[in-house]
Amino acid sequence: MLDKSIYAAEKPTWCPGCGDFPILTALQRALIQLEIRPHEIMIVSGIGCGSKLPHYIRCNGFHSIHGRALPISMGIKLANHDLKVIAVTGDGDGYGIGGNHFIHTMRRNPDILHIVENNQVYGLTKGQYSPTSDYGYVTKTSPEGTIEFAFNPIAVALSSGATFIARGFSGDIKHLTELLKVALQHKGYRLIDILQPCVTFNLQNTYDWYKERIYKLDGEEGYDPTKREMALRKALEWGERIPIGIIYKADGVPTFEDQVPALKDGPLFRQPLNRKVRREWELIKDDYL
Ligand code: SF4
Ligand code: MG
Repeated sequence: MLDKSIYAAEKPTWCPGCGDFPILTALQRALIQLEIRPHEIMIVSGIGCGSKLPHYIRCNGFHSIHGRALPISMGIKLANHDLKVIAVTGDGDGYGIGGNHFIHTMRRNPDILHIVENNQVYGLTKGQYSPTSDYGYVTKTSPEGTIEFAFNPIAVALSSGATFIARGFSGDIKHLTELLKVALQHKGYRLIDILQPCVTFNLQNTYDWYKERIYKLDGEEGYDPTKREMALRKALEWGERIPIGIIYKADGVPTFEDQVPALKDGPLFRQPLNRKVRREWELIKDDYL
């Protein structure tokens, strides 16, 4: 068993009570329980409160730019597909600014775990409505309520080829840890959309609001997450009842890396440079070394 402090890093600057704290703890616990070591993983984030996560966990990390965590994760995965790559984004970051990347990454099925801290608001920029804000949601920039209908990440993921789709809740750390453990062991693109209360700017979707509505799919009689049509019905459920747990799972789908011929001899960074690249490297290496 790994030492509990192996992933400990600097103290987060999130607001007291923020739903990002339990996500960080659940991720650390899942990695420790699966005995995954810090040098084996790379965490890539975008921009947002939750995207500060790579600073708060001691492993390889890349705090990147708004909406671009997925293409950067993809590049890292192609350079070294031995690394476990985890992309961490918010709802605005992952589904709004990075919405196009979200769809096309799923279509390619790279072996990347995508964690979305979904607080239904732009927290870092002080509370504007986001793609997942419910219709009518009142903010300083939508004083009469948003007139946009909410983006449904689960339904979009289901129709875009994601091979593992789950929803977690940061108010249930035990359940979230188990969910992350299953996701970390799946091969292919996996989405964990985590309901993450923003206690400062989203006073509508609070811990209590979620607790009154969520229920666990795990063990629900007759529910089979390998059945796409069943999963679609759950994906459309929102409001009075909100399902959490594994919504959809498809095993054995080839990943993007599995199918790239250049990767069949092992990770790119371990392969020798060909003559042309070596010549080019000789010309520029003094600028880098
Ligand atoms: Fe968390 Fe919201 Fe504070 Fe950001 S603004 S740290 S999401 S509580
Ligand atoms: Mg957000």
